[in-house]
Amino acid sequence: MSKATGYATSHSLTSLAPISFDRPEPDPLDVQISILYCGVCRSDLHQVRDDWKNTVYPCMPGHEIVGRVTAVGNEVRKHAVGDLVGVGCMVDSCGSCASCRAQLEQYCEGPIGATLTYNGPLKPDGTNTFGGYSSHIVVPESFVLKIPAGLNPVAVGPLLCAGVTTYSPLRHWRVGKGQRVGVVGLGGLGHMAVKLATAMGARVTVFSTSAEKEADARRFGAEDFILSTDKKAMTAAALSLDFILSTVPDSHDINPYILALKRDGTLVVVGTLAPFAKPTDNSKVAFQRRSVAGSLIGGVAETQEVLEFCAEHGIQAEVQVIPMSDINEAFKRIAKGEVRYRQVIDIVGTL
Ligand code: NAP
Ligand code: ZN
Repeated sequence: MSKATGYATSHSLTSLAPISFDRPEPDPLDVQISILYCGVCRSDLHQVRDDWKNTVYPCMPGHEIVGRVTAVGNEVRKHAVGDLVGVGCMVDSCGSCASCRAQLEQYCEGPIGATLTYNGPLKPDGTNTFGGYSSHIVVPESFVLKIPAGLNPVAVGPLLCAGVTTYSPLRHWRVGKGQRVGVVGLGGLGHMAVKLATAMGARVTVFSTSAEKEADARRFGAEDFILSTDKKAMTAAALSLDFILSTVPDSHDINPYILALKRDGTLVVVGTLAPFAKPTDNSKVAFQRRSVAGSLIGGVAETQEVLEFCAEHGIQAEVQVIPMSDINEAFKRIAKGEVRYRQVIDIVGTL
């Protein structure tokens, strides 16, 4: 065991505070990583607050991890001491089910599913995993990403969750040149979706509740901006888009977005796990043969792919760097919608 420090909370109503804990020594196929930066995802806040009713306390979030390899097990071949690497939302999966064999570890059909980077039961004893709000982490080499040269270590972390969660459905539904894409909610996920879909050649429309974000939306590549509270503008958008990605974190009414889809268009909701605020009106789905779908993060190979894609296209997240001690204020800023567009904790400098 090695001594680690991190920030965790012991209850949904308690602030995060520093704790000391043990990390295991690397097994033969493990990589030990000294953490430099960790992005703050809205999922971290959901998990800390127990919004999904599955939080195991103490809870130490963080799944947009960037760090340097400090030790490797003696069978590790992919990574070497000194490499700049990343860890995203998962640290293990069964490796043998149909989904794992298809490189879709996030949909692992094994007895405990994919092991999440935090709040995931660790095999074989079921202990809780602790995430990237910590000094270092030990992860199987197959779940460690290589950070391509040219990507800024401070801004690359958000690609490991916000990036791949938006990239994966854009790729799965074959978004590309000549298509019109809508992105609902311009936050951590949303701003990555705009940049990625634009780089894939699509024409992007942002649906936002914040009029003041229009200039940013255009700077990220969007050609159109619709205030989603403007009923007239929403009606005018009917039958205009091939694909819409909703990143709204709370229960919301998806029917206005279904109407904005063209015939055969698809709405993919990645933002919320809650039931929709209003039932889906299937007449609107059926009449234009539209689809409504969901999607979960992305596999390890696809996470590596989004890193390469961003290096190639010069894409990075818009980040605000914060000290570790500011994390409780950071959560308040997320809840109040004040973040532009991803907070990243300077772990190496401030933990
Ligand atoms: P975020 O940075 O807070 O962005 C969410 C954006 O949605 C906000 O900036 C805001 O944009 C809009 N919004 C917020 N509250 C809203 C409301 N009540 N109604 C309508 N719009 C609202 O959050 P994030 O980090 O992007 O995460 C978004 C959601 O995705 C979270 O719930 C997170 O748990 C989830 N998530 C899912 C996956 C997955 O695999 N499916 C992976 C990662 C995260 P405007 O100001 O533009 O309206
Ligand atoms: Zn996340």
